[in-house]
Amino acid sequence: MIFGVVAKLYQNTTDAISSNDIIAGNGKTATIVYFCHEEAQRGRRVITNFHTYFENSPFYKAAGFRMPEYMDAQEILDGFFDREDVCYGLSEVQKFMNSVGNPTAQKAWVEGLISQRRKLKVDILFDSQRIMSFDNRLREHTKYWYIPRKFHMDDGSFCQSEDCMRHHFIQVFQEVPFEILPIAMFDCEVIGKLYNTDEIIRDVISAPEKQKKKKKVPEYEEAPEPKRKKVNPEDLKGLTEKQKRRVLERMGEA
Ligand SMILES: [Zn+2]
Repeated sequence: MIFGVVAKLYQNTTDAISSNDIIAGNGKTATIVYFCHEEAQRGRRVITNFHTYFENSPFYKAAGFRMPEYMDAQEILDGFFDREDVCYGLSEVQKFMNSVGNPTAQKAWVEGLISQRRKLKVDILFDSQRIMSFDNRLREHTKYWYIPRKFHMDDGSFCQSEDCMRHHFIQVFQEVPFEILPIAMFDCEVIGKLYNTDEIIRDVISAPEKQKKKKKVPEYEEAPEPKRKKVNPEDLKGLTEKQKRRVLERMGEA
């Protein structure tokens, strides 16, 4: 499965909380760490493109579990299709994709990933500030979209500040497919000890001259208007006038 952890899904959301929470440090990488930690506790092989310190886990001393492996993007890509049953935690999807190479190489990699994902039994958690940083094909195949939201531990109030020093907890909301209640919740101080919160992720192969030529990608894209099905007159046969009118109204043809 491919999981996307983002700050928000759309620009013009009517949701008062998510329209305000496009701030750095609202827990996207912490969310990845939280889920990787869960997988590591189950004994699964975990590979991340940032440094982790799971030896600080409250459970590690007592139970012991497989430590995650750090790899840079190039190491992850080399041999990617030979590794099986791995959970990847990859911060900053756009930098990772830059490391894959030019758009043609990216397309080939994503297609390989999509066709072999099940056989390889891999799970990948990607994060990015914006959903539009995800390559189109990758976005299409990302089945779960999570948005973390940060709250204060003492009074439960929502935190909208990037450099707030109060003690926080994070609730992870599954926006797609939509779940009304948070699917996970964790203490930022506990999870914060498990990785380097200041680490800067670098892409391995950067091509500045190509990036200049890159066509400008709109920052946001609204969800496309669902295609309306045309009313087939055959379907209206046998309906009363009232029923026909209702069907047409619902289909926007009345
Ligand atoms: Zn705060």
